[in-house]
Amino acid sequence: MAPEVLMELVGVWKTYRMGEVEVPALKPTDLKVYRGEILVILGPSGSGKSTLLNLMGGIDQPSGGRLLYEGQDLSKVGDNRLTAYRRHHVGFIFQFFDLISNLTVTENVALGAEIAGRRGAFAPILENLGLAGKEGNFPSQLSGGEQQRVAIARALAKEPDLMLCDEPTGSLDFRTGLLVLQLLHRASREMGKTVVIITHNTPIGKMGDRVLYMRDGVIDRIETNESPLDPLLISW
Ligand code: ADP
Ligand code: MG
Repeated sequence: MAPEVLMELVGVWKTYRMGEVEVPALKPTDLKVYRGEILVILGPSGSGKSTLLNLMGGIDQPSGGRLLYEGQDLSKVGDNRLTAYRRHHVGFIFQFFDLISNLTVTENVALGAEIAGRRGAFAPILENLGLAGKEGNFPSQLSGGEQQRVAIARALAKEPDLMLCDEPTGSLDFRTGLLVLQLLHRASREMGKTVVIITHNTPIGKMGDRVLYMRDGVIDRIETNESPLDPLLISW
């Protein structure tokens, strides 16, 4: 069966204006993202990884090119439609968890659902992510790994198609990071989510169906893994 294209970038580019200077963050880029795949993005700092992810997530608009989500060009829709896309289709995971500090675990996750207009039950999500018993905790009462699992729960509560993760293990030790990555792996394999993961850690590429290498605002190359690994089997 041919893989289904969820998102397609056609000649998408981005420059940021800094006073008088235009910073070219992403040069014209073509990319297809397939439904259900795990796509790992590797590359040095400043190579354009976050720019690419933010464009995919509708956090930012491209300077040019076409960005098709299920065939619809997001670069042409207005702010309201872009916000709706972000709310209903995308779950974001960031390096520093970005939980709301004065809300409990359950309230943080409920907020994710509310933003997307969902009314699911959170208990199964929390249980599935190993957070049973932590429902009433505030973020400061959780370890880093637990906080990131709450962020994943919050993203999943939105019932998104696409999970966009920018350095999700960047502030975790390697082992804790692998446990977090395994949850993202399961979100792809068990729930059919499309998962895009930016990382600095080359070994993490082994969990990707494809690994995309970025350099100086371009996709240098894309490798396909015939047998992507469960993250728990990855070692240094
Ligand atoms: P990476 O995530 O790979 O570290 P980024 O996508 O964040 O790279 O950045 C790519 C380039 O764009 C860098 O030169 C960075 O300094 C620049 N850049 C990123 N975001 C902004 C911004 N909001 N304003 C100005 N320049 C930016
Ligand atoms: Mg970045």
